[in-house]
This record gives sequence, structure tokens and C-alpha cells, in this order.
Amino acid sequence: MTGMDNNNVLTSTQIVIEEALRKLGYGDDMIELLKEPMRLLTVRIPVRMDDGKTRVFIGYRAQHNDAVGPTKGGVRFHPDVNEIEVKALSIWMSLKCGIANLPYGGGKGGIICDPRKMSFRELERLSRGYVRAISQIVGPTKDIPAPDVMTNAQIMAWMMDEYSRIREFDSPGFITGKPLVLGGSLGRESATAKGVAIMIDEAMSKKGIAVAGSRVVIQGFGNAGSFLAKFMHDAGAKVIAISDVNGALYNEQGLDIEDLMDRRDSFGTVTNLFKDTISNEELLALECDVLVPAAIENQITASNADSIRAKIIVEAANGPTTLEATRMVTDKGILLIPDVLASAGGVIVSYFEWVQNNQGYYWTEAEVDDKLREMMVRGFNNVYELHTLKKVDMRLAAYMVGVRKMAEAVRLRGWV
Ligand code: NAD
Repeated sequence: MTGMDNNNVLTSTQIVIEEALRKLGYGDDMIELLKEPMRLLTVRIPVRMDDGKTRVFIGYRAQHNDAVGPTKGGVRFHPDVNEIEVKALSIWMSLKCGIANLPYGGGKGGIICDPRKMSFRELERLSRGYVRAISQIVGPTKDIPAPDVMTNAQIMAWMMDEYSRIREFDSPGFITGKPLVLGGSLGRESATAKGVAIMIDEAMSKKGIAVAGSRVVIQGFGNAGSFLAKFMHDAGAKVIAISDVNGALYNEQGLDIEDLMDRRDSFGTVTNLFKDTISNEELLALECDVLVPAAIENQITASNADSIRAKIIVEAANGPTTLEATRMVTDKGILLIPDVLASAGGVIVSYFEWVQNNQGYYWTEAEVDDKLREMMVRGFNNVYELHTLKKVDMRLAAYMVGVRKMAEAVRLRGWV
């Protein structure tokens, strides 16, 4: 791996993709094809705001590669959305689908906006406008969106409705993460967190740590972080710290997660209700068994990796640890479960939702949970085995498992 600490998420991904493909025996032509998405659409979406004026929002949809099947991945609403991030996120989705062995390539979308400052109706118009702008390149057999940062089931419902109107037939399989009454799957909302909890179980058993009584620290209290806190709390672990964009809460005896869940708003913010908070930086450096970054990119970097005192890091967020920090924490003996493996639960249950939509036959929550566990554990074992067999770090092992089916499909189709 590179010695430099590269915070550019796309460049870092390309470095590991190249290394993974080379280790798998592929050459420059395959690397050239898979290091970038095959398609990136940029759109400008006019939205009539509540004050009567029109604002133009910029949106993206990236599709990494469709050799395995249609592309799949979330849509992010955030002021920092940009082309580089969307491209990297689409590649990560390919890797997650590869690790979970789903019949998809990776896709990702985003709109530069701040939903916290928009009304419900403005958000509806923006969501519908985005679907009209990208409708040519998406669809149940082309590219299937889903929720991501600051998008939710209501936004998926508007998007599905807009797509169905354009196509003039009911198209639940166009998008996943929908409300249950519109063809959503049981267990989808908490699937990412459930998958992360399963990864924590597996990682702890490798390290000989019991879940009951263990100390867990979670950065981010949104969809991924809050459900995870609840699952860990229910499993008998002590969640000693959580955080949001405003700061972190810490209690060595364990926080009252149910109370915090009740108090959190729909953007995953809770700490501004409390006075005695610590900083996110202090949270990352707490001594604990498991540290779970579940917020945003580039949180564990070369400048703070030395201060990490966790035994295990499980990346619920996409891209929270830089490459240099990955090397540093791995050298310290910390077991790192990389994002493309740890947070695959969301896309796995999205896949189940799509299968149920296509069949028109719906599963029980227990069926969803059992199948999720089976796929996550299989993914973990494949990555962990390669990590020990080839003596590569967990991130490189995950990339190798994640990219090999896609590279094989590309070769068999005769593209390279
Ligand atoms: P969310 O918007 O529901 O929550 C994000 C949380 O992070 C909030 O608590 C927010 O306050 C906090 N946060 C934002 N900026 C922060 C900062 N600078 N420092 C500390 N905390 C900050 O988002 P989510 O859906 O929970 O996603 C979180 C991460 O997990 C993202 O990286 C996302 O891509 C990844 N992820 C989510 C899913 C999913 O299904 N929701 C699936 C896979 C990966």
C-alpha cells in the first residue's frame, strides 16, 4: 500500500482496486476499465421553492460497471456531494455486491443540497425532479437506487411514484428502501446496522471477546449508528459513547440508548440537547473493545490513528479510514472490518426487497434476518480467510473478494 495518506476517496479506492486486481492476476486493461465508473451523469434540476423562486440543484448518478447485472446504490442528499465522492461510492457499491455475491454492479447518486434547510414540499419536488432527470439510465433492470445519507423511505416513495408515472406502470422494483405499504421489505430500515452487528459478533469471536459486557463506541447516530447502538445494547454490550455532528456523549457505565433513540431527530442529531459533551476527536480516542465509525468519510487519518485505543474497528460508514491510517491501525494489531464488508447489510436487504418486488411475494422478517446473517457471515469468512491465507490486510482482502466476480464477468463477456 502507498506510504502517503490520501484523503481523496477516489484515488485511494483506485490504489486498492489496482492492487487487488494485480494480486488476482489481471493486467493493465482490466485495471483501466474498473478503476472508474463506466457512466457518470450530471444533471441540473430546477425546483420551484416555497417562496416562488426557482433554484437549480446539481445531481449525479454514477454507474460503475454492469457486467454482473444492473447497477445498484443509494442516493445521498448533502451539501458536500461531489463528482469524486459519487464515483468512489459507486465503486464501493460494486465491491459490496461482489462480497455479498449479489447479481449487481455498483451505482450511486447524490444531490448537492441541504435537506435540513428545505421544506417537505421542496424535498418532494427535488426528489421527483431528480428522477425525471435520470430516468433514461435507471430502472428495475438497469440501475436501482436506494436511500443513503439524509434520504429516507418517504423520499424513496416519491421517487418510485415519479418513475411509475413516467413509465406508466407500477414499478416497485425501480427503487429500494420504500415504505412497507409501497413494497418495502421487512427489516430494510435497520439492515445496515444489523449487518454491522453481525460483523462485530464475528470479529469479537476472532479476538476472543464476549459481546456481553463489552465496550462499544459509535460515531454517528443516524440510520446506521442509532440502530446499531440499540442492537448492541440489546445484546448486552455497553455503548459507552455515541456522537453526532455537534459532539459526542460519553458514560463509562453505558448510555441509556432507548432514551437517546427517543430524543434523536430524523437527521440523527441528539447531542445538542445535552450539556456535558465531548468532541468527536475525543470519542475516537476512547479506550474500548469496538469502535464503529458510522458517520462520514476520512475520520480516522494518519494524524489520529496513533491515538486509537480500540481492539476492533468496524466501518459502518463508507470510507471513514484513510489508507495510511488503515496501515497504522493494522500494524498496531487492531482488527479492522472494512466498509465494503461491514456495511453490506443495507444492499443485501435492498436486494431482498427487489427480489420480493419482482416476484410479488413477500417474506417474513425472520426470513430476511436469517438470509442476511447467512450472506454477511459468508462474506466475512471469505474475506478473513483470504486475509490470513495471502497475508494481506483486511481491506485489500475485501477488495480482492469484492472485485473478482466482476472481473471474471468482464472477461467472459469479452470486454477485456
Ligand atoms: P444519517 O444521515 O442517518 O446519519 C449520519 C450521522 O452522522 C448523524 O448522526 C450525523 O449527525 C452524524 N455526522 C454527520 N457529520 C458528522 C461529523 N462531521 N462528525 C460526527 N458525526 C457526524 O446517515 P446514515 O444513513 O446513518 O449513514 C452513515 C454512514 O453509513 C454513511 O457513510 C453512509 O454512506 C453509510 N452507510 C449507510 C447505509 C444505510 O443503509 N443507511 C448503508 C451503507 C453505508
